[in-house]
Amino acid sequence: MIRIIGGGLAGCEAAWQVASNGVAVTLYEMRPERPTAVHKTDRLAELVCSNSFRGDKLDNAVGLLKEEMRRLGSLVMRAAEASRVPAGAALAVDRERFAETITAALSAHPLITIVREEVSAIPESSERAPVIVATGPLTSDALSADIAHLVGGKHLYFYDAISPIVLADTIDHSKVFRASRWNRSLRPVRLTPDATGEDSDRPACGVDDGEGDYLNCPLTREEYERFYDALVTAESATVHDFDKERFFEGCLPIEVMAHRGRDTLRFGPMKPVGLTDPRTGREPYAAVQLRQDTLAGDHFSLVGFQTQIKWGEQARVLRLIPGLEQAEFVRFGMVHRNTYVNGPTVLAETWQVRVRPSLFFAGQMSGVEGYVESAASGLIAGLNAAALFRGEPLSSPPRTTAIGALAYYVSHADPAHYEPSNITFGIMEPLLGAPRSRMARKLATSERALTELQTWLHGRASQSLSEVSGA
Ligand SMILES: Cc1cc2nc3c(=O)[nH]c(=O)nc-3n(C[C@H](O)[C@H](O)[C@H](O)COP(=O)(O)OP(=O)(O)OC[C@H]3O[C@@H](n4cnc5c(N)ncnc54)[C@H](O)[C@@H]3O)c2cc1C
Repeated sequence: MIRIIGGGLAGCEAAWQVASNGVAVTLYEMRPERPTAVHKTDRLAELVCSNSFRGDKLDNAVGLLKEEMRRLGSLVMRAAEASRVPAGAALAVDRERFAETITAALSAHPLITIVREEVSAIPESSERAPVIVATGPLTSDALSADIAHLVGGKHLYFYDAISPIVLADTIDHSKVFRASRWNRSLRPVRLTPDATGEDSDRPACGVDDGEGDYLNCPLTREEYERFYDALVTAESATVHDFDKERFFEGCLPIEVMAHRGRDTLRFGPMKPVGLTDPRTGREPYAAVQLRQDTLAGDHFSLVGFQTQIKWGEQARVLRLIPGLEQAEFVRFGMVHRNTYVNGPTVLAETWQVRVRPSLFFAGQMSGVEGYVESAASGLIAGLNAAALFRGEPLSSPPRTTAIGALAYYVSHADPAHYEPSNITFGIMEPLLGAPRSRMARKLATSERALTELQTWLHGRASQSLSEVSGA
């Protein structure tokens, strides 16, 4: 029997996958006995905010992720189809019908038992009794404390301080310059053969390769004053009570910093020291640094720019930064309660906890972001927990698929700068010989993903057949 804690998007999808593989599952959900600050009903898979599952076409990564999930027999996708409302190119749902469809499907399944109680400590687990923890961003306090105990306190976060991300193509490169502060690039460089004649792959910290790691947006005094005035008068997003708690000093929203004084940002995320604008030969009055966010280099995040300003307002204020006048935002900044582990430190690609492989984390708790991504991680965690129980090999789809890229990101991103991510083409393995047009490139990437997902599925099916026949 497999136990799953948390009846949200990830836990419900995982339960469905486990039961669909013929394994009995008990799903624990603490609502309504113990509510969260955000959920409003006792339904499973309640959508806490927007009713949108975002884009539904193959020219966008979340559209591809959804198509892959459909092909993997996702219950969340089936319920979303059944409760779809008109939303242009996006998949949006009637939230009540959606949650009701999931609740009914799981309640009716003969292999699924639903228990309405809070689980306050991670249950014992073994290969014959795997456990999946999918308790989401608002994991109850007692369980959070036990998870912190297992993974180590510094690998469990309680707040998300997310900086906005812009599309590289939309940055005005005539206004920004590439440089690392003090000309120190921390990029590992491959050193030439050493005295022994052997190649060395040691990272050479502090070696400047002449390129610089950041794109820097320089601001004159007038530009800074204009940006500052817009920032301190911008409208903040409405926050829930828990968001009124004190912020960690290390992740203060920029508007909170700005309210401390007119120059505070110039000594914080907008400090210009160590940067020389090649067009003036001088240090700018202030600077915003953009850090490459994807291997493909098509997304850049604004360093230290976590903010709670309303999204529409964010676009207006951030476009006052030189170089970002026409910026398209892939993600806006946010600060909200979010319990999640440092995926690369804690998890394997199969969503198993590295130090305890009979335990899985899935959903927002595992370090992904968004409804669809959470359900997708639950899907693979469920398949793998069932495989573990049945003594079959565990695996994750390849990085060329959206669902595999998500698993790879969570388990392999840089742990020092780990941030939960939505699925984007930027975290998928780049397509060699890709078409030049952006649209054609995206469609070709999706086509490759669906072909490779099929191959993975075939491989998985034949592996379980050979286990059954003892081959
Ligand atoms: C305020 C807020 C707004 C958000 N808005 C959006 C949005 O608009 N779009 C979007 O894509 N994502 C949004 N998210 C992220 C969203 O929460 C996730 O995308 C998604 O709900 C995560 O799915 P999950 O299954 O991991 O967690 P959830 O859907 O939250 O499910 C976790 C479940 O576990 C239960 N639980 C918690 N602790 C225990 C316990 N100890 N024992 C038993 N049960 C427990 C909870 O009651 C809950 O039902 C938002 C998050 C927050 C906090």
